Amino acid sequence: MLNQTVLALGKKRSTIREIFEFGNQRAKIVGRENVFDFSIGNPNVPAPNSVQQAICDIINTQNPATVHGYTSAQGTEDSRAAIAESLNARFGTDYSAKNLYLTVGAAASISICFKALTASPEDEFIVFAPYFPEYQVFIEHGSGAKCVLIPAQEQDFQINFEEFERKLSPHTKGVVINSPNNPSGVVYSDETVCRLSALLNKKAEEYGHPIYLISDEPYREIIYDGIEVPFIAPKYKNTLVCYSYSKSLSLPGERIGYVLVPNAVDNFEDVYAAVCGAGRVLGYVCAPALFQQVIARCAADTADLSIYEENRKLLFEGLTSMGYNCIKPEGAFYLFPQTLEADDYAFCERAKKYDLLLVPGADFGAPGHMRISYCVQTETVLRALPLFKKLAKEYGL
Ligand code: PLP
Repeated sequence: MLNQTVLALGKKRSTIREIFEFGNQRAKIVGRENVFDFSIGNPNVPAPNSVQQAICDIINTQNPATVHGYTSAQGTEDSRAAIAESLNARFGTDYSAKNLYLTVGAAASISICFKALTASPEDEFIVFAPYFPEYQVFIEHGSGAKCVLIPAQEQDFQINFEEFERKLSPHTKGVVINSPNNPSGVVYSDETVCRLSALLNKKAEEYGHPIYLISDEPYREIIYDGIEVPFIAPKYKNTLVCYSYSKSLSLPGERIGYVLVPNAVDNFEDVYAAVCGAGRVLGYVCAPALFQQVIARCAADTADLSIYEENRKLLFEGLTSMGYNCIKPEGAFYLFPQTLEADDYAFCERAKKYDLLLVPGADFGAPGHMRISYCVQTETVLRALPLFKKLAKEYGL
């Protein structure tokens, strides 16, 4: 007999992966260029030259026996110090190597945090819709805690504070936020962040234990119209930051990121040790050694993100002029319009007729929407717009 929970998880691919695979099958029939795959958040811009240069330089100048060797579990002192310095230069903070634990990307960072913080199956983590679907998997099956979902505030996709306050309880161990957000593209305003921080401080005091804020920030650098993304950690002391270079440096397959545990976190040393212990339990051993070194050199860089800005403009303006309803995204590379019928699965099925591959909002806890991942070639967007128009016509727009 196998573990039935993981067996079921392994047998059922996520909807996003399912659609992505469908696209691969369609590409064999109609040609890759005729499949408009907006399903997956796989960055399509190359990593910056500095990354290629760093890789070549490290490989050509260092001893091959050590370049690819194990590092200490939390990552090399040099890499962690370099990341801390780049954060300090940008946010005026005073982090050092001892605040960082390097991971194999944000997915690992988040699952490590849930595992580190869960003390009992009664513990609860609050997640705001629309959300990255894997949170629920990591919380319930990775840590054995409870995942408490807060419905979306659909008019702006900021936090639905009324529902949030109702669901906070003495069992609340942590709250997860993701801004810029996948799938809505929304950036939490300063007002939202301040209100969140004040409420968590009040409730932590009332319950007599810390409530941790897990800030999942892989899209921190992908922002538009000069908007500022508030850096959360200094605004709420019990924040653990989960970051990855998958999106900002276009390195999703290389699996490199970190957990930041600031000194201000209650019981800092124990929390940091629990993060290390969770990484150990989950079998991560250490982050990829070569990419630890690459990040040490490129932590402050980004890929050329301008293509996303162009795609956002074309899609947002194109779709809204056709009558689709959509909140203008301020970050990430997703658009999250309302579907033209209440049943988002039926709508996305119908879109497949045009080889438009969209993900139903219900998968992100916000039915009646579709996620359009626009980290694709601009040409794909331009050729897809008439198809969105044909689809809209089917609904009388
Ligand atoms: N968190 C969010 C909100 C994401 O959208 C993703 C990936 O798309 C991840 C975490 C996982 O990122 P990584 O590839 O760094 O594990």
